[in-house]
Amino acid sequence: MPSTPPHHPARSGALRRLAAWWVVLLVLACAHLAPALAGEAEAAKSGSKSSKKKSTKKPPKKKGGPAKAAPAIRPVQRDVSGPQSVPSDGDEEVELDGDSEEDLDGEDEGSDDPVSELEAIERELLAQPYEAEADVRVPEPVEPAPLTKPMWVDHKVIPGDTVEEVAKRYGVTAANVARWNGIKADAPIPTKKKSLRVQTTTPVPPREKLEHTVKRGDTWDSVARALGVDVDKLRRFNPRIGDKLDPKNHKKLVAWRDLEIAPSVALSTKLGQLRVRGGGVSIGKPSRGKLVRGVELPERPDLYTRRKPEEEFGSTHTIAQMLAAFTRFRHDSGYKGQVVIGGISRPRGGRFRPHKSHQSGRDVDIRLPLLPGSQDKKHPTSADVDWRATWNLMRAFLDTGEVEYIFLDYRLQKRIYKAAREAGARREQLDLWLQWPAKPRTNKGVIRHVEGHRAHMHVRIRCGPQEKHCYSQR
Ligand SMILES: [Zn+2]
Repeated sequence: MPSTPPHHPARSGALRRLAAWWVVLLVLACAHLAPALAGEAEAAKSGSKSSKKKSTKKPPKKKGGPAKAAPAIRPVQRDVSGPQSVPSDGDEEVELDGDSEEDLDGEDEGSDDPVSELEAIERELLAQPYEAEADVRVPEPVEPAPLTKPMWVDHKVIPGDTVEEVAKRYGVTAANVARWNGIKADAPIPTKKKSLRVQTTTPVPPREKLEHTVKRGDTWDSVARALGVDVDKLRRFNPRIGDKLDPKNHKKLVAWRDLEIAPSVALSTKLGQLRVRGGGVSIGKPSRGKLVRGVELPERPDLYTRRKPEEEFGSTHTIAQMLAAFTRFRHDSGYKGQVVIGGISRPRGGRFRPHKSHQSGRDVDIRLPLLPGSQDKKHPTSADVDWRATWNLMRAFLDTGEVEYIFLDYRLQKRIYKAAREAGARREQLDLWLQWPAKPRTNKGVIRHVEGHRAHMHVRIRCGPQEKHCYSQR
């Protein structure tokens, strides 16, 4: 379940400290790749030059050697989760380029230097054996729970719909559908009825409209196969067209198909085949952490494009979720364009300029998928973003059940809301997932505003079940 970050009750004395942590968090949240900071990036790169080849081997051992020498380990102080935002209710086309950095510099938490603790934990973990390959356990997608109260919905009538079929779709009786709409149960739906009112407790998959331009040699069978619909249904969707398809007279055939919500067999197979190297462990916090035996994001041009492989290392858990989410995304959305991974962590984690977070192998920057015609644009705006694909990608991540946050500029969240509604997401569910339409400072939702996330989203994966020294804001 995508849980909303818990609310931390702050009482009397704790209040000031809490407020202080929020400020710290505001600073730490995450910062992004500004071209102006190329120098910093350069420095980071030189530090991990050979990472690509070496990464899957053991990182060099610390002098102190294995676990016995390690001092007692105390937990690193936890973050308090909090909203980071700047009020804005603009609804204009948002310029996407020039991802403004929010790299308010600062040696984060300062004082009781936890770096030595992190190093001690790192030494201890490196001395322990680990599984060569981790199972990618792909959780069942988060399905909308059955509605507790019946809800009125508008069913859009499509050619070939009958009262009986509509009733079946929503798990109600044909007699009721007829009564609610003042029509007859056993007669064709009157053509003037563009939609029917139905009261239901069954969440229904959205329908997708398909079109096919008739070409020479097309037959009803070949088109039905190409569109993946039943041939009898296809004929009913196009009642005015005869047995023979003629490109001259019949320019277009239309069809509707239920969008899949549950993963298909083919997808389950693909997910079942995912393999990820084991032993990659996140320690500390995203803004002050390390990565033990960092796992390089595998090269999978069919799923995503790696911008700088040497900066794309994560924990085993994170990489597993990424592969699962992207596999699901490509399957569900059919999106063919590039999706660029902007950065995760360095091979051993730690400071990764110009980011504030991205230190423990759990933070992933992903450029928003663009519309086909906009892929090569130098300065895409929010009008160039493929919001349907963007929502699909977010949904695929949310469905892993392992996402702590997705940071996205508040001004763009409305687009997500709209795309999600169009894809059939329910209001109650979106209310849990999205900060919008609540105010940008509201401590609510997995998808949250953090300044600087306009051209890309930032996904933070939860700590894995085995990661004892990883700190989440749960
Ligand atoms: Zn980021």
